[in-house]
Amino acid sequence: MAQAELDLAHFRQRLHEMRASIQEELDRLQEETSNANQDTSYGVKNHPAEDATELEQRERNMAVRGEMEREIGRIDHALARIEEGTYGVCEIGGELIPVERLEVRPAATLCIRHQREQDEHARDVPDPWV
Ligand SMILES: [Zn+2]
Repeated sequence: MAQAELDLAHFRQRLHEMRASIQEELDRLQEETSNANQDTSYGVKNHPAEDATELEQRERNMAVRGEMEREIGRIDHALARIEEGTYGVCEIGGELIPVERLEVRPAATLCIRHQREQDEHARDVPDPWV
């Protein structure tokens, strides 16, 4: 079952654009990190406070990069589903994902209900208000 009325070319292009901009940002962070590594290799002892800030910065960069890499994975997955002809179909329930949701989140492969269930499962803490 596929959404015949979906403008797949439109979503494919948006996914490619998203992927390109995330990749660009990843490259920029990568460059930043390698520059920072070069700075410390000069053997000049940094002030401890500066070390802490730099470490913090590096940890934040790594977290951001990890999230970006996961997002690229989600985008690739969505692109693969366009090729398979299953784009816009919920991976769990098989129901159609509303086009409004895909416009907001082109990489979505689950409907909102199942996405919520997945998020709850990931947190492992049931939210009584959902
Ligand atoms: Zn679903």
